[in-house]
Amino acid sequence: MTHQNASARFLIVGPQGSGKGTQGVLVAEAFGVPQVATGDIFRANVKGGTELGKRVQAIIEAGDLVPDELTSELVSDRLEQADAERGFLLDGYPRNRGQVDDLARFLSTRGASLDAVIELVVPREESISRLRQRALEQGRTDDTEEVIENRLAIYERETAPILDVYRAQGLVVRIDGVGTLAEVTERIFVALAERGLQPNGDGAAAGAA
Ligand code: AMP
Repeated sequence: MTHQNASARFLIVGPQGSGKGTQGVLVAEAFGVPQVATGDIFRANVKGGTELGKRVQAIIEAGDLVPDELTSELVSDRLEQADAERGFLLDGYPRNRGQVDDLARFLSTRGASLDAVIELVVPREESISRLRQRALEQGRTDDTEEVIENRLAIYERETAPILDVYRAQGLVVRIDGVGTLAEVTERIFVALAERGLQPNGDGAAAGAA
């Protein structure tokens, strides 16, 4: 295994409507690692009517969090796949302290560690107006007014505090998420490059063989 400096293990954290899904895909593509978005995986299961989908549907529609055990197991199964060996970009996980601990345990048993946590900073009013717009465009069942409020409240109460844990580890790259898509993307790549994290021409992480 070529491990030296070749890893690109990222988290992207920000409130719903911060654009983290879109930005996360761009970062993952550039570094040649899979983007793993727990919300997308859950939604696909609901849509496909799987056993998992049936278990989580009501929770997702209410904007509540799926139990940690179920979510962390789903993530570790995904990260065990070969394409995530060298890295990944996790979007929407971890979302609370329990999941932070689960991820840390998963990584440490593999001798792996995170390279950066990208924090997208977007004011509440801006997130809300973007989510309303998305509701009109995509008609997601959890983008209704009431559920949006609940999801943002959970973000502020449970998810935002996990950034302190990663800040203490020196991992957080704080990005102003207000601006055009391209402006925000540029800020992310500049900030990662400042930390020595650069995708190279063929889409592999810096230092990859
Ligand atoms: P998202 O697309 O990231 O906003 O996720 C949509 C919904 O999926 C959330 O409102 C939760 O119900 C569920 N979900 C996604 N990720 C997680 C997670 N890490 N922990 C618990 N529930 C999650």
